[in-house]
Formats: sequence, structure tokens, C-alpha cells
Amino acid sequence: TEEALRKSEKLAVAGELAAGMAHEIRNPLTTLKGFLDLIRTIESEEKREEYYRIMDGSIKQIELISGEMLALAKPQVKCLAERDVTDILRTVVQLLNAEAILHDVEIHIEAPYRPIKIICDENQIKQVFVNITKNAIESMPSGGRLTITMGEQDQLVTITFTDTGCGISNDRIRKLGEPFYTTKEKGTGLGLMVSNKILADHHGHMSFESEVGKGTKVTVTLPIVSAESKGA
Ligand code: ADP
Ligand code: MG
Repeated sequence: TEEALRKSEKLAVAGELAAGMAHEIRNPLTTLKGFLDLIRTIESEEKREEYYRIMDGSIKQIELISGEMLALAKPQVKCLAERDVTDILRTVVQLLNAEAILHDVEIHIEAPYRPIKIICDENQIKQVFVNITKNAIESMPSGGRLTITMGEQDQLVTITFTDTGCGISNDRIRKLGEPFYTTKEKGTGLGLMVSNKILADHHGHMSFESEVGKGTKVTVTLPIVSAESKGA
């Protein structure tokens, strides 16, 4: 039956994820184990400090991966409320401003003054915006500009994130959101997958347009609270 099919598909995805996670965590674990052995025999205080730093990096990587897997495993949308999507966006940009400045990235928000209300789990939508904004910052290692715009149309809000970063080639765009697909040395390749799931839970979605060497535009679409859904 359809139900059974869906269930077996889900199980297949879960198995793939578990295998991927085990694989991704094995690398930093191997590093940890190796340096733990080394550190026992080392005499130089300086070397020891260096090894501790490397081990710290491995632990952070494991933390990152397990954090994102947990976000993925979280039960559906938990805490729904009516929120102004521009407010959420401003909070996120504030949160990441220090990181943006550090990378010489300027962030601009172009939004209407009136609130745009969506029904959402605020923390989850925050996480989506954080993922997209972080990706944009990381795509501009020698600085650039991230412009975020908001538009309303047909009971939908459209949020675009346009960066002046490295861009993504067409054959790579298809891979975005696949578990563990990353081009970064310290990436988890889970951010977009988690974001896709959260958006789907909110009846929204996300799409990419990009040109290598020029930049990337990410478009997020979400339903706006309509008069009738308020019972008016
Ligand atoms: P991670 O950031 O850990 O690599 P993500 O799922 O967030 O994982 O992103 C997957 C990949 O998508 C990134 O490694 C990068 O190659 C690509 N990507 C996502 N957003 C952008 C962007 N704005 N510019 C260029 N590449 C991007
Ligand atoms: Mg990311």
C-alpha cells in the first residue's frame, strides 16, 4: 500500500542518514583518538597546546553534526504562533552581525514597515534564516554584500537573500540539500537539509539561482496569515 511504501522509503532515508552520520563522525573521532595517544608521550608544552586545539576542533565538529541531526529528528512543528517575519529576520541579522563584520560582509535588509505575519515555530524559522545567512557569509571569504528583501504576493511572503559570493555551478545546485553534501572543509552539509524540512513543515519552500563568480540568490517562500485563517 501507499502507506507501507512511504514507511519503507522513510526507513531507507533514515538508514542512509545514519550511515552518513557515522561516517562523518568517524573522521573527527579518529583524529581525537590519534592525538589523545600522542599527547600522552609528548614532552613539549607548545606541541601539547597545539594538539589540544586540534582535539577541540574535532569535538566542535562532532557537536555540530549531532546538533543538526537532532534538529532534523525533532518532532514536527512544535510551538506555533503568529509572528512578524521581518522581526525574526532582524533578530537573526543582529545575531550574525559580528560574524559578518569579521568577514567584511555588509548585510542590508529591505523590508516594508508594516508587519508580515506568518504562523510559525519562531525558533525553527530563525534556524532557517541563520543557515542561509551563514552560507552567504561563508561564500564571501574576502568580503562582500548580502541583500535581503521581502515581498508579498498572493498570500505568500517571499524572502530573498542575494550574496556577492563564489556562486554555485548548475551541476552542484542539484546536490544542495542532499545529506552531508558540503564543499567546505569544516562544513556538515546538513544546514540546507534541515532548512528544507523546517520549511516543508511550514508549507513553504526554498529555491536557488546562482552564477559562478558572481553570487547566489536564495528565495524562501512562506504562507502569510490570511484574514480568513484568523477567523475574521
Ligand atoms: P554546509 O554549510 O555545512 O556546507 P549546507 O547544507 O548549509 O552545509 O550547504 C551545502 C553546500 O551548499 C555548501 O557547502 C555550499 O557548497 C553550498 N552553498 C549553500 N549556500 C551557498 C551560497 N550562498 N553560496 C555558495 N554556495 C552555497
Ligand atoms: Mg551551512
